[in-house]
Amino acid sequence: MSKEGHKYIFIIGGVMSGVGKGITSSSIGLLLQAKGFSVNLVKIDPYLNVDAGTMNPTEHGEVFVLNSGLETDQDMGNYERFLGRDLGPEDYMTSGMIYQSVISRERALGYNGKCVEAIPHVRDEIISRIGDAAKHNGSSVSVIEIGGTVGDFQNALFIDAARVLGIRYPGDVLYIMVSYLPVPGTLGEMKTKPTQNAVRQLNACGLQPNFLIARGKYPLDKKRKEKIAIACSVPADQVISAPDIESIYEVPLNFEKDALAEMLTKALNMQDEQKTELTAWRKFSRGIMNEKRDVVDIAIVGKYFNTGDFVLSDAYLSVIEAIKFSGVVCNVKPRIHWVNAKQFEEGISLSTLARYDGIIVPGGFGKSGIEGKIKTIHYARTRKIPYFGLCYGMQLMAIEFARNVAGLTDAHTVEIDSHTPHPIVDILDSQKEKIQKKEYGASMRLGGYDMVVKKGTIAFGAYGEEHLVERHRHRYEINPNYIQKLQDSGLVFSGVSPNGVLMEIAELPHSEHPFMLGTQFHPEFHARPLSPHPLFTAFLHSAIARRKKRTESV
Ligand code: GLN
Repeated sequence: MSKEGHKYIFIIGGVMSGVGKGITSSSIGLLLQAKGFSVNLVKIDPYLNVDAGTMNPTEHGEVFVLNSGLETDQDMGNYERFLGRDLGPEDYMTSGMIYQSVISRERALGYNGKCVEAIPHVRDEIISRIGDAAKHNGSSVSVIEIGGTVGDFQNALFIDAARVLGIRYPGDVLYIMVSYLPVPGTLGEMKTKPTQNAVRQLNACGLQPNFLIARGKYPLDKKRKEKIAIACSVPADQVISAPDIESIYEVPLNFEKDALAEMLTKALNMQDEQKTELTAWRKFSRGIMNEKRDVVDIAIVGKYFNTGDFVLSDAYLSVIEAIKFSGVVCNVKPRIHWVNAKQFEEGISLSTLARYDGIIVPGGFGKSGIEGKIKTIHYARTRKIPYFGLCYGMQLMAIEFARNVAGLTDAHTVEIDSHTPHPIVDILDSQKEKIQKKEYGASMRLGGYDMVVKKGTIAFGAYGEEHLVERHRHRYEINPNYIQKLQDSGLVFSGVSPNGVLMEIAELPHSEHPFMLGTQFHPEFHARPLSPHPLFTAFLHSAIARRKKRTESV
């Protein structure tokens, strides 16, 4: 048995990636938590990047930032949303991170002159990090998702670490394979052979799955369940059907129908703390799927390339989910529209924006589409359309205001124009040095920072609190030299850093605009199903009010 009776559940993919290992892990975490256990979820990314911060979100998906400032994979966002709590940097690891520590230790003579090898040294570093994550969380069970698919070259050491833990702590470790069952168009029949082969591949790594999650377009029928059970030596009741469903938030409820949590705790010999308590989750899940809610139309105006909607929604995953969660508490169904900011630079009329109930300009970097975004913000401000700016969306809101209200015609951010006469958004000296040295990795203002919210503002009305922590990911800040000028012209900085130097929230008063607010941080990283973010909720309330007015006037 492991030292403190700690339990480990490894989630390993079969057949192909992208079939829902992350949601499976999140759901299992939620279910065990709902049974009263303290759970931590760990994501292992096999790539060599030291963190996810240097990867392009349109190729890899959103970079999710933890409170600690670690830039991680979007799965960590799902984990936090399902568990409803913050996770630590110990809960995320990449091959790059692991090799970096092993190599640093080797350079510091930490291996006493031994030849340093992938096995045992790299594998042991993985095992030790998995242990650290459990210890740090003080959890009784860890759910560990190994990225990639069995048979990949890249994740073999992680799978071997999982095997060694199973030998070390017999009875305390479970292996769950999440596999895919295709239904080839020509046959119209669900095929189990790829899954049988995937299990065989896992067997070749010295592992036998205890459970098999059968992902597919349709539910798994009895015949195929039994076939898999016999071919793969997994008991039939431990082969769980996991068909595509409408909402990812239904997945744990679907697992619950098969009493998965109970089977897991039995298999791990865990004394159940309580019956699975999912009342609030069920209510939320019903809310998010309620098609009878009134619709609000929200435009997300950004620089969208020809990447297709699938990738786009991945790049802004937390923003979309944050809108959806607030939609549940406001009892409306937000309909999201992707609007390419560039078109407004190419002559398309801004009046197309009038059809939306609210506009968001999300986080971003670089020049592309920037004047289109500023025009959008101008339109939202002057036409009194609810506007919510996230990070870049707040910086550009300040620039639009500086140019068109404060009379600073050529105001800009130095990210785009280093010679602007009015650098409204500027770079801090500490950041300048980093850029000169090409230190781009993990070098922005990252993670949770304290903020003080001023009473009597829209932000305070939403939060109802003065002291908060919000998560950041940006290099530039509102230039302290322009704060007075902007304030004198009517912009309210309703959230500031405790020392008063950094501007965290900008807004226009109610008398000027129904909702014109931007945050230097990313509120979307703190939005959770059962505790939606108050600023997203306030924005949505304002969008609903506009919708009502619009429909009443037609
Ligand atoms: N590009 C801006 C900066 O680095 C905003 C970043 C963001 O929107 N996350 O400050």
